[in-house]
Amino acid sequence: MSDRLDFIEHDDIWDKLNEECGVFGVYNHPDAPSLTYYGIHALQHRGQESAGICASNGEVFTNHRGMGLVTEAFNNNELSRIHGHISIGHVRYTTAGESKLENAQPLIFKYSGGNLALAHNGNLVNADQIRYQLERQGSIFQTTSDTEVIAHLISRSGLEIEEAVKNALRLIKGAYALLVMTEKKLIVALDPNGLRPLSLGKIGDGYVVSSETCAFDTVGAKYFREVEPGEMVIIDEDGLRSERFSGQTQRAICSFEYVYFARPDSDIAEINVHLARKRLGRKLFLEAPIEADVVTGVPDSSISAAIGYAEAAGIPYELGLIKNRYVARTFIQPTQEMRARGVRMKLSAVRKVVEGKRVIMIDDSIVRGTTSGRIVQMLREAGAKEVHVLISSPPVMNPCYYGIDTSSREELIAASKSVEQIREFIGADSLYFLSTEGMIEAIGRHDGSNNGGHCVACFNGQYPTEIYEDTKSCTEKC
Ligand code: SF4
Repeated sequence: MSDRLDFIEHDDIWDKLNEECGVFGVYNHPDAPSLTYYGIHALQHRGQESAGICASNGEVFTNHRGMGLVTEAFNNNELSRIHGHISIGHVRYTTAGESKLENAQPLIFKYSGGNLALAHNGNLVNADQIRYQLERQGSIFQTTSDTEVIAHLISRSGLEIEEAVKNALRLIKGAYALLVMTEKKLIVALDPNGLRPLSLGKIGDGYVVSSETCAFDTVGAKYFREVEPGEMVIIDEDGLRSERFSGQTQRAICSFEYVYFARPDSDIAEINVHLARKRLGRKLFLEAPIEADVVTGVPDSSISAAIGYAEAAGIPYELGLIKNRYVARTFIQPTQEMRARGVRMKLSAVRKVVEGKRVIMIDDSIVRGTTSGRIVQMLREAGAKEVHVLISSPPVMNPCYYGIDTSSREELIAASKSVEQIREFIGADSLYFLSTEGMIEAIGRHDGSNNGGHCVACFNGQYPTEIYEDTKSCTEKC
């Protein structure tokens, strides 16, 4: 076996950026914990290593957190023990080291004003600095999560809860879609760049908030509006009100949410993810028209882009690759042994579709190149005459510090290899990456800000926030 195939065989085949976390909250609903359960279940794709729900009945908290999928973390008994009309939930993905229950969210604290529960999606870029200062001043941390830094800042301020949260938000930097629950209030906040998605919905006389709008459909809520960058929304017995905690906002929504992370039935900043992916496919055709017999997409996240390419090219779209859904769980186990075992079970090529054909294979991204190489090999073994790989995003050349598990720069194949070298590595007949400008145009511009209101830092290195040296070695996300 060649060096190349040896590498493919033994490395982590699920060569994708890993999703971060998902948050879901309910205010003023008699079944708030159940709605939250179904809400975080709809957000399961955003984190599969732990799940948790905390509810308030106006006086006390009840909660449960567990490891694994939502259905593994909760059984009927555990859910039925959680009571209240306010509730927040969280699904988490851990990026490095062991998953620990102590880091599962919502994190719950007692402070001088009562109880506090926090659910956070994103990653703070100055958590290490704040933590260091707080520890020098005597704070004792229970977890390694950067979310606990926010809790300490809130509890130490001595201010009323709304001012205390606002004060904390002004000190933290980075990405956060944050839910803070007290006995009587739900406070929702989004960082000044709006890096992670966060939407508000209505249900009956109450409100829901979710990382993605797909969860609204699941629980029967109606989309209300987006939480704006730099906005804090307070929901309590006086209703819903909005405050700005930062005057310096510049929208920079993670473009990878559209490309890969989010569910196709979600709308992010009112742009539907499936339709955005179809436009990415169309744009790919405009930039790289290839003569071929069939277009296929790597399931599931690249199917929409493949349909878009096929429509624009007038080439039939076919299911040339099939994913075995029931081994997905294998890949979230962080041990190398489990990953290696899962490789051979994850995908297969449909011989009758690709045999003797010139195949265009659309994928959403190449991180280390290992998956792409394996799939190209699979298509060739199934008889494909030519395999052209088209990627509906630009080359990933820089790490993400905002809650996405990118490999270190050394592991990113595009950071050290040219497109031609990557083509050779994955064994494709041709390889093309969508341009950054093409990607932004295809997703849609949000406003007049940089990069069309998108974060594209992992492609072009233009980080929308300051990046601290310590952040670069920080591995705990969410
Ligand atoms: S660096 Fe990349 S993955 Fe991270 S927030 Fe920006 S676009 Fe998303």
